Amino acid sequence: MLQQTRVAAVLPYYRRFLRRFPNLKRLAAASEDEVLQAWSGLGYYQRARNMHRAARRIVESGGRFPNEYSAIRALPGIGDYTAAAIASIAFGQPYAVVDGNVIRVLSRILAERGNVRSAPARTRLRKAAEHLLDRDRPGDFNQALMELGATVCLPRTPQCAGCPVAKWCRARRLGIERQLPVRRRPPRIEKATRTLLVVQRNGALLLKRRPVGGQLEGFFELPEPADLPGARLGPKLGEFRHAITRRRYRIRLRAAELDLLPSEFLWLSPDQLNAVPMTTATRKALNQLAGTWKR
Ligand code: SF4
Repeated sequence: MLQQTRVAAVLPYYRRFLRRFPNLKRLAAASEDEVLQAWSGLGYYQRARNMHRAARRIVESGGRFPNEYSAIRALPGIGDYTAAAIASIAFGQPYAVVDGNVIRVLSRILAERGNVRSAPARTRLRKAAEHLLDRDRPGDFNQALMELGATVCLPRTPQCAGCPVAKWCRARRLGIERQLPVRRRPPRIEKATRTLLVVQRNGALLLKRRPVGGQLEGFFELPEPADLPGARLGPKLGEFRHAITRRRYRIRLRAAELDLLPSEFLWLSPDQLNAVPMTTATRKALNQLAGTWKR
């Protein structure tokens, strides 16, 4: 219930829910409509559906809540974080909980300067959390770390003067605690559709040569409609995907005919095509056209 929702908002729902479904058996025996009705007002209804499905699965397999991490993790709606929290807090098993608060605290204690949204930095922090975990009291340790993040090591105003782990904190020693953690968004992926024209004459294919001074200078490529304003477009010949750094293209191949040939274009025979430098998109296009292209 507390996912994405404040404690104060949850409390009355929590009490009412437990009065209505005081154990797994009662929850499993309820219809989905009853469960959703009891949840009504809390939002994010998938949580209720998952909990209901989990209760049914547990009851079907004997009625005992699993106490092994992998079995807990396999229940509907339970990911790494929740499974580690249940395994450590309810069953005393040595699993480190890594949530946003823990990431902030650990990145400061260790002066982790990598982007905590990236896999390498997250892996380092997860390993650190596992290494630091108190094997005798994993539940208390996890809750203490989460609580430290929620009440002392605050995002904008870390309360270092009253912090119980200040003497081990590298960021504090370096005076960079407010600069951590580093959170950079991954670059935005742009999507676009492009059309490449396949113009053939006497077994040769029309290609454009990239101009001097630009990117991929001298490389050959299939023209686009804007390159040949007088072209008459024919049927679609194929389609493929092509990625260039942050751009993801869907490239369509269309047959085309034209009467007048602009000067920067050349007719290339199949042999010549094999001998010239070509952009990757055009190379992919020719591979796709193999068989349909009249050589
Ligand atoms: S000393 Fe400051 S920055 Fe370091 S863990 Fe404590 S509150 Fe966070």
